[in-house]
Amino acid sequence: MPHYESPILVLIDVTPSGAAAPSTAQLIGAAAQLGTPVALVAAPADSAKDAVDSAVAAGAQLVLTTDVDDGPIAVPIVDAMQAAYRTVQPDAVLISNSIAGRDVAGRLAVREHLALSVDAVDVARDDEGIVAHHSVYGGAYLTHSAPTFGTPVITVRQGTIDTRAKSAPEARVEKLTVEPSGAAVAVGTVVEALQIASSRPELRGARVVVSGGRGLGSKENFSLVEDLADELNAAIGASRAAVDAGFIPFPHQVGQTGVSVSPQLYVAIGISGAIQHRAGMQTAKTIVAINKDPGSPIFDVADFGIVGDLFTVVPQVVDALRGR
Ligand code: FAD
Repeated sequence: MPHYESPILVLIDVTPSGAAAPSTAQLIGAAAQLGTPVALVAAPADSAKDAVDSAVAAGAQLVLTTDVDDGPIAVPIVDAMQAAYRTVQPDAVLISNSIAGRDVAGRLAVREHLALSVDAVDVARDDEGIVAHHSVYGGAYLTHSAPTFGTPVITVRQGTIDTRAKSAPEARVEKLTVEPSGAAVAVGTVVEALQIASSRPELRGARVVVSGGRGLGSKENFSLVEDLADELNAAIGASRAAVDAGFIPFPHQVGQTGVSVSPQLYVAIGISGAIQHRAGMQTAKTIVAINKDPGSPIFDVADFGIVGDLFTVVPQVVDALRGR
């Protein structure tokens, strides 16, 4: 393998169809801020050709592929990451802060005795080395973490880093040999993998999110959120109160105990803006809030606020968008 100056190892999330997840460009862009992006597509090159092409287009100088089964159990991917780590000897490892990504990051850090830093909203290199920036306490503070030992393994919150690397037309694609650790057998076996079919963008990493809260009042009324999401090609989010009330399932919950999102546009409908909700959406680029109570804390973080009854306002907005 050729020598790369300050290699940064990036794990590419591969979708079941063999494409690269939307997080790819951000992760490789973040890696380019620190050194030379080297990407691992933990799948065979022929079945994940789109993912390999995306990684090259996004600026990876070297793309490693494997024969491992990129299945729902993380262990084979950890085996591949461990092999890639030992081959590349990177200055840092960047992984998407998804459920699967955090699983891989934790396991890799334990196996190789590396420093783990989760949910970064930015990364940088300074005199002390590589640091990760974190948005904490509902976005009230920015903190940073740096390793006191070992190479940092950093999970990056999707949608937070805008820097993009130049595409790498001279990039190399090489196959990595991976020795299965056998740990997958000890962890368990997959009985059935259920795929949730949805034509909407996935919440994590979506460019636009429309979220509904307790103010919607019922599961039936939550269709107002869906109507607006359809017009904006948005993912659907919710507050915990809306989830607890059964308006929508838990995977849509945004906040401290749900998903953290950083979209370009976040629309909060009938959501008061409790700190636990803001923790998951405050880094959105533009926040629009629709709430009948002008004293709601959501207006403290909103760029645009509409004070009014959502049952009047939302249909008007939907009609206006349909009439464009
Ligand atoms: P409410 O606070 O009841 O707000 C409803 C809003 O709707 C009000 O502002 C009201 O003015 C408005 N409204 C009502 N009717 C209308 C109308 N017709 N038109 C316009 N506006 C209207 N919450 C999360 O969201 N995510 C989390 O991950 C999360 N984690 C938590 C973790 C812990 C440990 C704890 C203790 C709490 C957590 N919570 C979380 C709960 C959080 O504290 C709030 O209770 C919750 O976010 C409130 O949801 P809401 O804004 O939908 O409901």
